[in-house]
Amino acid sequence: MDMKIVLLGPPGCGKGTQAERLTANLKFTKISTGDLLREAVRLNTPLGQQAKQFMDAGKLVPDELVIGLIKEKLADIKGPVLLDGFPRSLEQARRLDELTKIDLAIDIGVNEEKLVKRIVLRRSCKNCGAVYHLEFSPPKVEGKCDKCGNELYQRSDDTEATVRERLKTYNDKTLPLANYYKQKGILRTVDGEGDISEVYDRIVKVLKAK
Ligand code: AMP
Repeated sequence: MDMKIVLLGPPGCGKGTQAERLTANLKFTKISTGDLLREAVRLNTPLGQQAKQFMDAGKLVPDELVIGLIKEKLADIKGPVLLDGFPRSLEQARRLDELTKIDLAIDIGVNEEKLVKRIVLRRSCKNCGAVYHLEFSPPKVEGKCDKCGNELYQRSDDTEATVRERLKTYNDKTLPLANYYKQKGILRTVDGEGDISEVYDRIVKVLKAK
């Protein structure tokens, strides 16, 4: 059976990085609503125009817009799926259950002050989306992506003020999801501190135990 997995956890916990590794090594197809929304903003599509103000303010984009995106993507994908950054509210989780069956929700935990430090020093590749950290995983050449050589940039919502707002949004809207999945018996928590490979190994262990 093709597994469908939700990655939970606050902004900066490493969801995107771990999702990238799981996709490369274990043949998952990743759906990242954050990446899809940033792409829509970059292309200035009607969705992007509506989403931008919420993203820049550290708020959630309205459920209807995001659920529309997910519906489209899920319909396209065959095989195991990894959801990164969705669902982010109880309403989204309920709507997701109407669309498909979720097998596992993996919650990655990291201390809040560490999250802020991780996020403000984060840099991403404009072209391939690879993510770096100026202190913990800097690119080999300053400002350039190791994988494709393109320019790195700081996400417009990765400033300290927006990060604090995103953490608040997370605590209000997304944190209750852990309980939602716990009640269904499919929540697993993973310590998100330590280096990327350590966290990855913890996630793989959880997947193997399923
Ligand atoms: P991320 O890359 O996952 O940190 O998402 C960046 C921003 O995109 C968030 O702060 C939200 O504004 C928006 N976003 C991403 N995923 C969702 C979602 N599932 N629901 C609502 N807004 C989202």
